[in-house]
Amino acid sequence: FSSVELTQAYLDRIQALDSQYNSFITLAADSALEQAKQADELRKKGQVGLLSGLPIAHKDLFCTAGLKTSCGSKMLDNFISPYNATLVERLNQAGAVTLGKTNMDEFAMGSSNESSYYGPVRNPWDTDRVPGGSSGGSAAAVAARLVPACTGSDTGGSIRQPAALCGITGLKPTYGRISRYGMVAYASSFDQAGPMTRSAEDAALMLQVMAGLDPLDSTSADQPVPDYRAHLNDSLAGLKIGLPKEYFAEGLDPGIAQQVQAAIQEFERMGAQVKEVSLPNTELCIPAYYILAPAEASSNLSRFDGVRYGYRCESPVDLEDLYKRSRGEGFGSEVKRRIMVGTYALSEGFYDAYYRKAQQIRRMIQQDFLTVLKDVDVIMAPTTPQPAFKLGEKNSDPVAMYMEDIYTLSLNLAGLPGMSIPCGQSQGLPVGLQIIGSYFSEAKLLNIAHQFQ
Ligand code: GLN
Repeated sequence: FSSVELTQAYLDRIQALDSQYNSFITLAADSALEQAKQADELRKKGQVGLLSGLPIAHKDLFCTAGLKTSCGSKMLDNFISPYNATLVERLNQAGAVTLGKTNMDEFAMGSSNESSYYGPVRNPWDTDRVPGGSSGGSAAAVAARLVPACTGSDTGGSIRQPAALCGITGLKPTYGRISRYGMVAYASSFDQAGPMTRSAEDAALMLQVMAGLDPLDSTSADQPVPDYRAHLNDSLAGLKIGLPKEYFAEGLDPGIAQQVQAAIQEFERMGAQVKEVSLPNTELCIPAYYILAPAEASSNLSRFDGVRYGYRCESPVDLEDLYKRSRGEGFGSEVKRRIMVGTYALSEGFYDAYYRKAQQIRRMIQQDFLTVLKDVDVIMAPTTPQPAFKLGEKNSDPVAMYMEDIYTLSLNLAGLPGMSIPCGQSQGLPVGLQIIGSYFSEAKLLNIAHQFQ
């Protein structure tokens, strides 16, 4: 069948079902069908890209020329980007068709997708529950089979945690593996894009296209991009797996612990060796991240001033009023909380006590991982401490919400790659197994995930 037929089938499915999930902010039916038509024409001429005619969707923080890029915020509700993010451009070049833009926590701040200006996303497994966040729309859309693959971003778990809660595959590559150009910045030294898919093989295909050096992003890595599909079937015999004891401690749902242990046994049957390891500074990850990420966010979000682009308040009386009301009315409460925390941490007199200290802890956490990864090939752990929780359950308690990221955001502090893959259920809800590797070990992670699936 043609890409036009495939694209139309997905558009129909989204139109029929997404009122239950709210996973899309923008549906791009006309431009998608146009892209599909072009892909079909190129195919007739024998010009086939890696993703020729494949419908995908982008998290709404990747700039897409001609389509709204809202970042889940009233601040950018009127923003139509004049250019494409590098990864969008690369996916387009490979023949992908953009069905639309997916819902997300406002400016990617959150773990439940409840901070979106466009309303919460609902988990397709149980619509009273959250899909996780901040890439909740992408996770729910893939889980509900509204789209075969999506892009997501992970600053502190936002690809892996929603992937786990919705029972799909999510990969956060090494920091710098994929260009950040055209991805609205949250915390620039943490932000990393990645694929959210139904399988490791699909993730390999997406990553193949997305990864690589980009002259437009000075932090993108000058590292060769391997053939990610070439090693999917490699044997796991002799693979050394480390299990961090701090990740199997108090607070972990017993059903999740059981499923993850069962998965580890499966790897042992495939010839892997398992040993306990220790990441001693685990309890410092959340406090360090929730100083550093807001500090960077407070700086990044200063550009939204009501002058250049985005939301502007009605009839400002002077410049100060324009700034204050545009930001006051344009940002939601979680974003404001982060800006205030970040500004405080960076202010004179507090910088040494908070920001510098958190940077030192960041280095210690990275060292913990590097020490363990000298000894084992990969680390395995649960992706989240609990399965998907009820909408509203953690909304009024920011610290409870921040605890959701306990097993995921450590990797962003260290810049390491990690993947979440489905591994059974607890209380009838999906469980995610997290696989963590050394820098630029994405091919290994995909190999391991593929062998399990
Ligand atoms: N939950 C984390 C936060 O709110 C992670 C966000 C992310 O990875 N974008 O900051």
